[in-house]
Amino acid sequence: MSLNSNDDGGAPSARTRVRRGVPRARYGREDILAILHAGMIAHVGVTTPDGPLVLPMAYGHDGERLYLHGAAANHLLGTGDGHEVCVTVTHLDGLVMARTPFHNSMNYRSVVVRGRATRIDDEAGKRRALKLVTDHVVANWDSVRPPSQSDLRKTLVLEMPLAEASAKVRTGDPIDEPEDIAGPWWAGVVPITTRFDSAITSADLTSGAEPPDSITALAGRTADERPQPYRA
Ligand SMILES: Cc1cc2nc3c(=O)[nH]c(=O)nc-3n(C[C@H](O)[C@H](O)[C@H](O)COP(=O)(O)OP(=O)(O)OC[C@H]3O[C@@H](n4cnc5c(N)ncnc54)[C@H](O)[C@@H]3O)c2cc1C
Repeated sequence: MSLNSNDDGGAPSARTRVRRGVPRARYGREDILAILHAGMIAHVGVTTPDGPLVLPMAYGHDGERLYLHGAAANHLLGTGDGHEVCVTVTHLDGLVMARTPFHNSMNYRSVVVRGRATRIDDEAGKRRALKLVTDHVVANWDSVRPPSQSDLRKTLVLEMPLAEASAKVRTGDPIDEPEDIAGPWWAGVVPITTRFDSAITSADLTSGAEPPDSITALAGRTADERPQPYRA
């Protein structure tokens, strides 16, 4: 099973079908990948013996599978290996300020992916996954020293299918009670954008190396606009 095209709007599984705020749900491949492309941080949830655990992490994907990495001793990833995990990517696009706090909201794009995570052990698969995670954040894998065998041994990599995913998107104004509309209170949206500043060279850089194009290209761009090697 893989993500459905947008032609049919996608088809959620029973457990990824949005029940609250149904008009905001999206299940199509392009909708889900666009949100994954724009994001840099995922919140990864697992069930541990001492309760649920959710931690923020970087991620990458190739359109079919999602990749996570961490230290070989990473508790969350070790717990997730061979088990069901839940990965959430969220963009906060605006604060929605209503005429009463009851109707305050947020404009957002979010994706929830559920599925079984599996450890990648073979070296080629691990390198490919790590390149996807690296380049998903900033596409600079090819302009820095590649990981050594030792780096690879110290890194745990998990993959999970993107097959079971849902997206939810809120845009627009607050939705106030009709009787409050003519009231004396302000209502509207405060937009939020994540934008890159110019890169700052490390204080200990003595080689004279210039930042690669992948870095200089970020300045002034939003997270949504950053160049990425993998696009649907
Ligand atoms: C930035 C942000 C802030 C939010 N703040 C609140 C808040 O304060 N209170 C609140 O009640 N809700 C909030 N939401 C919405 C929240 O994520 C849930 O969608 C909502 O609470 C309904 O929960 P539920 O368990 O009834 O979902 P259900 O509709 O029962 O969920 C069923 C399935 O739908 C999918 N789904 C549900 N929510 C999402 C989602 N956000 N993105 C992608 N797939 C989803 C999942 O696959 C889930 O298993 C916020 C969302 C975002 C992105």
